[in-house]
Amino acid sequence: MEAREKISYLKGLIDGQNLTDTPENEKFYGALVDALNSLAEAIEGHEIMHQDLNDYLEQLDDDVTEIEDELDELLDDDEECYDDDYEEFDEEEYTSVKCPFCEKDFYFEPAMYDEDEDLICPHCGKGFKVPEPE
Ligand SMILES: [Zn+2]
Repeated sequence: MEAREKISYLKGLIDGQNLTDTPENEKFYGALVDALNSLAEAIEGHEIMHQDLNDYLEQLDDDVTEIEDELDELLDDDEECYDDDYEEFDEEEYTSVKCPFCEKDFYFEPAMYDEDEDLICPHCGKGFKVPEPE
């Protein structure tokens, strides 16, 4: 039973069982049914608002999914570009070296350094001599 139906049923009970035999009781039960009706109305209002919000969220969810798909496509394109760049970067100008201080590998460009110039490790910031090419 919906709240409204229950309230109507209650009202019927009150009327049918002579509960409103005194003005005080009539006033009390009238106020009670009124309060319940107000509650039911407020709840119905919230249900409508809730439904509206739900519809809105579903729409929003669809939009976000659409944007995610488009973003994925864009990012896929970018990844291919990065791969090309990376190969170029690795093969032509840069050499991998291990830092003697923190033992992390990084890339540097040998053409940019003189023999007696220090390499600066990007991980720990310490300088060391460019190793001889193997
Ligand atoms: Zn280092």
